[in-house]
Amino acid sequence: MDIKKSLLDLAPGELEAWFAEQKQPKFRVRQLRKWLCVPGITEFSQMSNLPATLRASLEENFTLRTMRVVTVLGTETDPAEKFLLELADGNRIEAVILHNEQGQHTLCASTQVGCAMRCAFCASGMDGLVRNLTAGEIIEQFLFASDLLASRNERLSHAVIMGMGEPTANLDALLDALAVVSSSEDGLGIGARKITISTVGIPQGIARMAELEHPYHLAISLHAPNDELRTRIMPSNRGIGVSAIFRAADDYFQKTGRRVTYEYILISGVNDSEEDARELAGRLKKRNALVNLIPYNPVKELNFRTPSPAQVRRFANILESYGIQIALRHRKGEKIDAACGQLRRTTSLQPK
Ligand code: SAH
Repeated sequence: MDIKKSLLDLAPGELEAWFAEQKQPKFRVRQLRKWLCVPGITEFSQMSNLPATLRASLEENFTLRTMRVVTVLGTETDPAEKFLLELADGNRIEAVILHNEQGQHTLCASTQVGCAMRCAFCASGMDGLVRNLTAGEIIEQFLFASDLLASRNERLSHAVIMGMGEPTANLDALLDALAVVSSSEDGLGIGARKITISTVGIPQGIARMAELEHPYHLAISLHAPNDELRTRIMPSNRGIGVSAIFRAADDYFQKTGRRVTYEYILISGVNDSEEDARELAGRLKKRNALVNLIPYNPVKELNFRTPSPAQVRRFANILESYGIQIALRHRKGEKIDAACGQLRRTTSLQPK
């Protein structure tokens, strides 16, 4: 039996070749592409300016959606709504929609099933990497969010690539997907400046991000001020090191003029001491940087704890006393297991 291909996953030129085979004029491809990101368009039959015969043969050959929602946690009135999505092969990923007080809606998208980075505190990588997502599967998370929001007369305004997976380990597919997402011509029109890519800190990946014509916002998961501690909680630091990450980040800033965000999750008794704060401040004070302080979101299977609000405040105050700009992120997803990978783990790990 012929398995239908996902339209969003066709390589560049593949769709054009199919249209040529079908003896369809070229402008029909453009018409079709324009439909793909229109909110609420999930079936070929809705594409009203395409001839019925073309719609029927598209329907026979391709699918527009490949994922299904398995579980939803939270509602539109919560700060975060979390979705467990099942892919065509039965693997599961998580996507979160964050709602803020200004009425903006941000998608937190995944790039991989699982993760190979094995950060000690993170649920996503506990079982290692299963596979990369395809560009189409990344785009589909955006379409899913966009469709859902459109049904509520809302629109997706921002995105953070902070779901499951390490974005720089699947950068080709991610950049292909984001090119579609950020296109105002026939994509979702979410500009590059409204999209943040968060990385564990892989210098080659950061270097590639710095070369883009329309650079995305860069966030680096630092979580420790020195190699000794960082390698202990983030094994990917071994052989790279904090200094090389800073060099890549400084270069990104120089090339793009865009301030880098450093994420720092605060884990009680691990990286939240006053000495850690001073050391971090020392490394950042000459840099144009924003530190995003995030109280650790506990993961059931892991023995890490969240510091008290007073300890978080103390850490923040020290950074501020050095003139470091900080943002204290609230734990939006806490009630809904929104820390990366937690939902996938709690609702049966294995596909099928
Ligand atoms: N792999 C990328 C992006 C995905 S993780 C990265 O490392 O940046 C997104 C962010 O959530 C990272 O900063 C990650 O370290 C952090 N994170 C992972 N587990 C967490 C937890 N339990 N509580 C709070 N933040 C967590």
